[in-house]
Amino acid sequence: MIPYIDSHTHMHSLPWDVWELLGMAGMQAAVISAGSPYLSRSVRSEVPGPGEIEELWRQPIELARTAPEDLLFRLYVSIGISHATQVRDWEKLLERMPAYFQDPMVVAVGEMGLDPFQVWGMTWSLEEQEDVLRGQLHVAKDHGKPFILHTPSPRKRTLITGGVALPEELKRSCLERDLRVVEVVGFPQERLVVDHCDATTLEFVLKETSAYAGISVGLAIREIRPQDVAELVARHGPERILLNSDLIAYTSYDALALPASLRAMRRRGLPLNHIRQAAFENANTFYGLHLAVPPIADES
Ligand SMILES: [Zn+2]
Repeated sequence: MIPYIDSHTHMHSLPWDVWELLGMAGMQAAVISAGSPYLSRSVRSEVPGPGEIEELWRQPIELARTAPEDLLFRLYVSIGISHATQVRDWEKLLERMPAYFQDPMVVAVGEMGLDPFQVWGMTWSLEEQEDVLRGQLHVAKDHGKPFILHTPSPRKRTLITGGVALPEELKRSCLERDLRVVEVVGFPQERLVVDHCDATTLEFVLKETSAYAGISVGLAIREIRPQDVAELVARHGPERILLNSDLIAYTSYDALALPASLRAMRRRGLPLNHIRQAAFENANTFYGLHLAVPPIADES
C-alpha cells in the first residue's frame, strides 16, 4: 500500500463503501472540490443562486470536520463558483468567500476554468465565465490561497449528451485563455494547478508556466490509465505533478485508478522518493496541509 493524497475529488457524492475502499487502498487525505451543483444525475430546472452554492460548500466542510474519526482519513475543501452551470448573483459569493477561509478545513479556491459545456442548458458565455474566473482569482490572490484551474474534457459532451465530441484542441485553447486571465490578475502561477491535464496540455504547462500540472485518473470520461500516469511521471519527473481522481457520481469511474497508478509507478521502477513526491508531498505542500509524510512500506 502506498500512502497518498487525492488532490482533487468530488467523493462527497459517492457512497460510504467507496470511502472505505479508498481508505483501505492508502488514501490518507483528499481535497474536495466543492461548488458544482452537478454531482449526480439529479436535474435542476432553475439556475442556482448564492444560497444554494454556499450550501454546496458547507456540506463537504461538515463532512471534512468529522472525517478523521468517522472515515479514518482527512478531508479538506476547495470552495468555488463552478463553470458547470450559470450561477445567479455570483458576485455575492465573492464577498462571502473570505469568511470561509477562517475555517481550517478550507484550503483552496476553485475549481473553475473556461468550459463551453454547461449542464441542464444553463449556458454561460465564455466572456461571463472569464469575469467569474477573474473575480475568484482576485479573492484567492488577496487571501494567499491556491487555485484549482479546471480545463474541459473533450469526451464529456459525447458521454453526457450523446452529442458531438468536443474538438481535441479545445482544452488547449480554453487553457490559453484562462492563463491570460491569470496574468491580468497577477495571480502567482506557483499557487495554480492546471487540472485534468492530458497529452495536449501537460508538456505545455510544465514548460511554459510555473504552475502545477494536475493529472486526473479514474473517470470514464478520460482516457488516461494507471500505466499512462506512471509513464508521464517517469518522463516529466514528479516535481510539479499533482495526482487526483476527480471522482464524481454522475458517470462511470474506477475508484482505485489512483492507487493503481502508484503501483504502476513501482512496477515501472520509479524511485520511491519520486513516487512519494507525486503521491503525497506535492499536494501536502501545494495546499499547505502540513501532514506528516508517511513512509512507503519498503522505506521503513
Ligand atoms: Zn473536479
